Amino acid sequence: MSTQIRTVGFIGLGIMGGPMAARLVRAGFDVVGHNRSPARQEALVSAGGRGAASPAEAAAEADAVITMLPDSPDVEAVLLGAGGVFAAARPGTLVIDMSTIRPDVAWTVAADGGRRGLRVLDAPVSGGEAGAIDGTLSIMVGGSADDFEAARPLLAAMGQTIVHVGPAGSGQTVKAANQLIVAGTIELVAEAIVFLEASGVPTGPALEVLSGGLAGNRILDRKAAGMVARQFTPGFRAELHDKDLGIVLAAARSAGVIMPVGATVGQLMRSLKSQGLGGLDHTALLRIVEQLSGRPEPE
Ligand code: NAD
Repeated sequence: MSTQIRTVGFIGLGIMGGPMAARLVRAGFDVVGHNRSPARQEALVSAGGRGAASPAEAAAEADAVITMLPDSPDVEAVLLGAGGVFAAARPGTLVIDMSTIRPDVAWTVAADGGRRGLRVLDAPVSGGEAGAIDGTLSIMVGGSADDFEAARPLLAAMGQTIVHVGPAGSGQTVKAANQLIVAGTIELVAEAIVFLEASGVPTGPALEVLSGGLAGNRILDRKAAGMVARQFTPGFRAELHDKDLGIVLAAARSAGVIMPVGATVGQLMRSLKSQGLGGLDHTALLRIVEQLSGRPEPE
């Protein structure tokens, strides 16, 4: 079977998928994109890609199909549904789901695709919109080693750290762990910032010295200044992180693993959503710390 990939179907051209598809165009692939809302599709056409009226149309002539959709039901509908990718794709087509979804759904989808002669990978990403634009995403890939190697030229156009982490579903399990660590770290940085402010210690020098010691981490480096300034424009929406923490906690339950801190952070992220703040960046967890501490938002 040829591993030469020329035509790529790309379904889901949102905050992440739009710039990822544009990078594939710039790398020389013939990209046929489909998105539910047409404006996103027009942006791809302006960038040099082509538009498709449905997932099936995007898949029909593709050597590889990539999906970048919000949640598990969206991926199931687009891949498995009537008029979906699996029914239209030619045998041997690589199908790479880069959305963040449940590991068990990724596994089921891969098994279904395998029965149809398709080569399915789960390849969720970390690195945010900036990483999608710059092509510096971390990509964690589950599936067979051969299919991973076949997909590498595509993934290399979108990411920098690209690792095969295990069989089908493993990419999503690693992504769930990623989201647990990121949410927990944001919560601790938020608690530290509110604590420093309440204690009357200027946050600038405090965060500088913290960054250089064992407490140093990328949330401190990249996000703390925005948190101090109360800039919560997404970025990564709290409602998507709420979805991801639901995935982590369900998968942990299946694995028989207890996550007391993960469960608490899941509740705090859910509180943002239930207060109608799910459209803010996930660093708005700081707002919850302020509320719980009885501290009013700064002017
Ligand atoms: P988004 O909502 O901006 O994009 C999703 C796109 O899919 C939208 O344009 C929507 O119109 C389209 N869509 C939904 N259902 C569709 C369907 N049935 N057919 C065709 N198009 C459909 O979301 P996003 O921020 O790009 O995130 C996509 C995925 O990547 C999510 O799983 C998210 O958790 C994950 N992710 C996001 C980030 C980030 O920083 N935004 C980072 C890493 C991973």
